Amino acid sequence: MGLNLLIICYLFGSVTFILGLKMLSNPVSARRGNLIAATGMFVAIVGTIFLYRNTETGEHLHNYTWIFGGLIIGAIIGTMAARKVKMTAMPEMVSLFNGMGGACAALISLVEFNHLSKELLAGDTITFENIRTTVLIIVLGLIIGSVSFAGSMIAWGKLNGKVKDFSFPGQNILNLLLLAVALALGAYLVMYPTHTFLLYVILALALSYGVMFVMPIGGADMPVVISLLNSFTGVAAACGGFLYDNKVMLTGGILVGAAGTLLTILMCKAMNRSLKNVLIGSFGGNAKNAATGVGEHVAYKEISLSDAAMVMSYANKVMIVPGYGLAVAQAQHACHELEKLLIEKGVEVKYAIHPVAGRMPGHMNVLLAEADVSYEKLEEMEQANDEFKATDVVLILGANDVVNPAAKNDPASPIYGMPILEVELAKTVIVNKRSMKPGYAGIENELFSQPKTSMLFGDAKKVLQDLLIEIKKV
Ligand code: NDP
Repeated sequence: MGLNLLIICYLFGSVTFILGLKMLSNPVSARRGNLIAATGMFVAIVGTIFLYRNTETGEHLHNYTWIFGGLIIGAIIGTMAARKVKMTAMPEMVSLFNGMGGACAALISLVEFNHLSKELLAGDTITFENIRTTVLIIVLGLIIGSVSFAGSMIAWGKLNGKVKDFSFPGQNILNLLLLAVALALGAYLVMYPTHTFLLYVILALALSYGVMFVMPIGGADMPVVISLLNSFTGVAAACGGFLYDNKVMLTGGILVGAAGTLLTILMCKAMNRSLKNVLIGSFGGNAKNAATGVGEHVAYKEISLSDAAMVMSYANKVMIVPGYGLAVAQAQHACHELEKLLIEKGVEVKYAIHPVAGRMPGHMNVLLAEADVSYEKLEEMEQANDEFKATDVVLILGANDVVNPAAKNDPASPIYGMPILEVELAKTVIVNKRSMKPGYAGIENELFSQPKTSMLFGDAKKVLQDLLIEIKKV
């Protein structure tokens, strides 16, 4: 009876994961989707704690102090971190949490291999032959989980600026060698599972590979790497599901693995780059470091707050392009106020959202949703590009690379081929940023010197607040 109920809990969990994931693909249903999947996970965890029974011994779980101790501490840390995190630091947190998932998968492999080798030494019930598949899954879980953990920790350090890019000639060859040796030793261990110490050598190699493979990757590519590491964690968790014959863990792992892989592919497409190029290229890394001074000597013209207010108040249609700077300035609420004020004045206002604007996919959507901007006002890139021609004013708030025409016009540019928002098609372009410094890719933006573009310098929040005052006067 207990077991049947547990299977129902797992089935419920699996269905909610799939449903939740589906709902995450639309901003309107995303929040609910997240809650539904979390409820499924809660039911699966509680079900396992109270209903699980070992099929051979019939024993229930009994170490409740450890289980609930861990759950309570984890829940407190997780809740506090999620409440405190700033929108700009979200990718860091995703990376940190993902790393914890990888570490769990690797720990499961270590613990289970220990159990197995004890049973092997006792020598009664199991033989080499019938544990080979189990050892294979243990080794895979260990390698993938450790790479994900170590890689995510480096990604976390890089995103918060504590770890600097690091590379040397021949690093890719060394990386491949590390991985090849780890895999070869893993294969050996599957054949000869009594060589217990090898598991720790494989662990060390996989951790080193995780560190070395993320170290040289440039800042602007980190979200792609995080998404790739996320898919690794999913696969490692799926290995745990195989190991324990736990269907919900298997489904959850496969879903995370598949979703992470798809997201990685989508992000590469949005930047028009191959995964190989992201992993061994240096976009946003070296380019960024070499960029000091870029853009500071470009000719440009400025617009005053009162003129900007005037131009926007008398426009028929204004498109707002939010970027990373909007998130840094936490200007989303002021931006929503501006939108409402312009609408009151009879102006049609829309937002043009580039798929990689900000520092993670969906960054702008989440930020604007926080300020209660209606989803209907958000236009995806293709749709927005069709509308720019009929737009009077484009107001760019802290975006740079995603509106850089070099992506279309300059084959020598590191962002050449990246689809961009074609804001220059509009009648007037107003760019708000604090200086002429470059964006994440570290390159000049010719948009700023075009005749129809005017710069409105200052922190996005402050500028928007001042603009509100000026527009009210018009
Ligand atoms: P960018 O980093 O290109 O530009 C942001 C701009 O905001 C900067 O030029 C900066 O200029 C300005 N800024 C910073 N702080 C403020 C502030 N307080 N007020 C006003 N302006 C400010 O951001 P984008 O969103 O245009 O592009 C994102 C970049 O990240 C792209 O290169 C993209 O390829 C990359 N990327 C994104 C991924 C994703 O998944 N989202 C994935 C991979 C890469 P200044 O210092 O002068 O103020």
